Amino acid sequence: MAFDSLSEKLQNVFKNLRSKGRLTEADVKTALKEVKMALLEADVNFKVVKQFVKDVEERAVGQDVMNGLNPGQMVIKIVNEEMVKLMGSETAEITLQPGKAVTVIMMTGLQGAGKTTTAAKLAGKFKQKGKKVLLVAGDVYRPAAIEQLQINGQKQGVEVFSMGDKNSPVNIAKAAMEHAAKNDFNIVIIDTAGRLHIDEDMMAELIQIKENVTVHQTVLVVDAMTGQDAVNVAKTFDERIGIDGVILTKLDGDTRGGAALSIRAVTGKPIFYAGMGEKLSDLEQFYPDRMASRILGMGDVLTLIEKAQEDFDEERAKKIEQKMRKNEFDFEMYLESMSQMKKMGGLSSILGMMPGLGMGAGKMPDIDEAAAEKSLSRTEAIIYSMTPEERQNPSLLNPSRKRRIAVGAGVDIAEVNRLVKQFEQMKKMMKQMPGMMKKGRRGGGMF
Ligand code: GDP
Repeated sequence: MAFDSLSEKLQNVFKNLRSKGRLTEADVKTALKEVKMALLEADVNFKVVKQFVKDVEERAVGQDVMNGLNPGQMVIKIVNEEMVKLMGSETAEITLQPGKAVTVIMMTGLQGAGKTTTAAKLAGKFKQKGKKVLLVAGDVYRPAAIEQLQINGQKQGVEVFSMGDKNSPVNIAKAAMEHAAKNDFNIVIIDTAGRLHIDEDMMAELIQIKENVTVHQTVLVVDAMTGQDAVNVAKTFDERIGIDGVILTKLDGDTRGGAALSIRAVTGKPIFYAGMGEKLSDLEQFYPDRMASRILGMGDVLTLIEKAQEDFDEERAKKIEQKMRKNEFDFEMYLESMSQMKKMGGLSSILGMMPGLGMGAGKMPDIDEAAAEKSLSRTEAIIYSMTPEERQNPSLLNPSRKRRIAVGAGVDIAEVNRLVKQFEQMKKMMKQMPGMMKKGRRGGGMF
């Protein structure tokens, strides 16, 4: 799968960071050196990597650690945000002309990049949105391109305009425009001829089409598997003919990720879509934020970080911490910390978001989530059935009180006994671990 190797390396860097209670400037620098290596190995443009690392470092060093985040999480958050920025932050769309006015889209790119396939994929997307789309077979050099477009157009239920391979692309484009105007098409997608490498004839031909036909959007199709080459192609096409955006194909393959991460930064042009397979439905809108979390391989750990920040209540945490230090932890506090945890989405959702446990890693442990949630709410019911005095002073809990509590909570007395025992053990454990809470606080509450 795409980005696997980069993801793995970045996750290792973050794992080391997370295991530290405090980060020194040197820790951040070492981690960023590893991030830099990982990005370079993933074939990300050198200048892009340099700037990226500089930006992250500036933000990571000297920034106060936010409430609810430990320093490692802070660095992950910054790396994620900068990665999203690198890919353009906003999701970019191909701009259509207003109302029913026709929009002409010219597909460009090297041979084999996936231009013809993508033209048909795109046609299907617009058709789904209720547009009347015309595909134009302008690749007169690649022997099978016209037939391929016709077959794919038919599959998509989209008309294909073709004049065979004896006419020049510019004449085909002009004739197609007339046909489109007469038949009320909203969108015209012109497939053009690619070459194996960038060459003058190809550029001249594309420029000529643009001079003779009003092209509203020039879209460049590049193969993500070619890494830095794709970025260079994008840069050259933009300089020579001007492009509005890029479609990155073959992201379903074993690409290292360099193209996805560099194109926007090098050319300033957005990635509109990502090709995710050979089927005509395999075209996805490109979301920089989703792509970044996929590259970071973090599952939804970033969501967890956000949640921790949102839900963290500094005052409450301080109070719990003080009580614990004085070994005054009682059932009130126990309830409090349970509600903190619930605010973060409950046990099952937190487990699901943990790196290594969540999606992607495929290692979800065998935990019966429903049972875990249920047992938590029974615990809550038991504590609610205690009087305030009992919650603050659990040593009051003699057998007759326990019996009353069990009836109140609708549980067996054995369950009340178990909870009290667990609570005593927890208290004992905390006494043996002074300072534990301090670390815990930085980690976003006591769980
Ligand atoms: P063109 O020369 O640029 O018109 O390229 P084609 O559209 O003929 O595509 C070249 C090859 O790449 C074909 O075998 C396509 O099926 C394949 N292809 C195109 N897009 C994708 C994609 O997103 N994923 C994968 N796996 N293959 C693709």
